[in-house]
Amino acid sequence: MSLIVQKYGGSSVGSVARIHAVATQIDALAGKGHQVAVVVSAMGDTTDRLVELAREVCPEPDARELDALLATGEMVSTALVAMALNQLGRKARSWNALQLPIETTAHAGRARIERVEATGLKKDLAGGVVPVVAGFQGRAEGGDLTTIGRGGSDTTAVALAVVLEADECQILTDVDGVYTTDPRMVPEARRLPCVSFEEMLELAGQGSRVLHLRSVEFAARYGMKLRVLSSFEPGPGTLICQEDPRVEAPVVSGIAFNRDEAVITVAGVPHEPGVAHAILKPISHGAIEVDMIVVNTAHEKSVDFSFTVHRDDYQQALELTREAAARYRGASVTGDDRVAKVAVVGSGMRSHAGVATRLFEALFIESINVRLVSTSEIKISVLVAEKDLERAVRALHRAYGLDVAVSH
Ligand code: ASP
Ligand code: MG
Repeated sequence: MSLIVQKYGGSSVGSVARIHAVATQIDALAGKGHQVAVVVSAMGDTTDRLVELAREVCPEPDARELDALLATGEMVSTALVAMALNQLGRKARSWNALQLPIETTAHAGRARIERVEATGLKKDLAGGVVPVVAGFQGRAEGGDLTTIGRGGSDTTAVALAVVLEADECQILTDVDGVYTTDPRMVPEARRLPCVSFEEMLELAGQGSRVLHLRSVEFAARYGMKLRVLSSFEPGPGTLICQEDPRVEAPVVSGIAFNRDEAVITVAGVPHEPGVAHAILKPISHGAIEVDMIVVNTAHEKSVDFSFTVHRDDYQQALELTREAAARYRGASVTGDDRVAKVAVVGSGMRSHAGVATRLFEALFIESINVRLVSTSEIKISVLVAEKDLERAVRALHRAYGLDVAVSH
């Protein structure tokens, strides 16, 4: 008998029929003798609709009240799933974050889970009851409801799995696993049977939206087995776990991409210490996240300096950069918000030469210009024009042998 935490996403519980379907699956798993704890998201696009509703009432809603509103979505689905289970004769109880509690920091909208009180859950499990817990929400000191960031129910599920010392944390969603790249863009993409934590962290951080990034960080830190599965059809899904030392890691496991990028270039600033700091400091003070950074020191006296930000932050970042660069005579600031990032990820990169060469060759054949490059031990990211994105992803998917093998 094992203890399994299952998380069902919004589309998996998006209708009454889906709630019954999910209850049937949970009941079947519990019927095999497993202990099951469940985490659910809000039904369908409920959270989006609640955000819109808030904006209709008030263009900039108070953060505390917005969290109080958004947290209701998950409370609806927990109660409904528990009811559906009870109707099947399977004892179940709903729990929200105030009841358990799930303690978080007080940062409304982006709180972090600090502690999960598991007493109530353990009692349920020991008594043969399926606890159904609201994802995405928490309780700050003093009692306020918080939310932990969009898509955060995955992280709630992993936190629960860790405190319950579950054997596995399953994320049930509308795709049947993690793919080599987005199959909507590249039909030849394949489901990966398994992927290492560090590869998944890079993929999630680079725009693959299957899992909430923090859920992967959490699972990696505690060595919690994480599996992504479809709630719509049976299958083995993708297991995310520690690398198997007996098996050689694939050179490239997947290709992630992100359209929401913008690049800012400062040209002709003096080649002296502190310049990068002077330009980037106002950006970070504006709480704008900078991603790729490249300093080009080809000239003797001056440098060109480029960095990327999220497209939503582009205008603000451009203004801040213009102000900061104004102190350097002859400096110019330009930008482009029609760029996209493509990242090639694989643990085997560490031990293989020529990974970058193949990337540049594949993009060269497609006549695609590379604007910026950044690398980590297991990742190479390039910035390209947005119009070239699809061709770049397809070309790289092919170049690294990730396309589905064609059977003859
Ligand atoms: N319902 C929340 C959202 O839509 C949390 C989640 O689905 O994980 O972001
Ligand atoms: Mg999600």
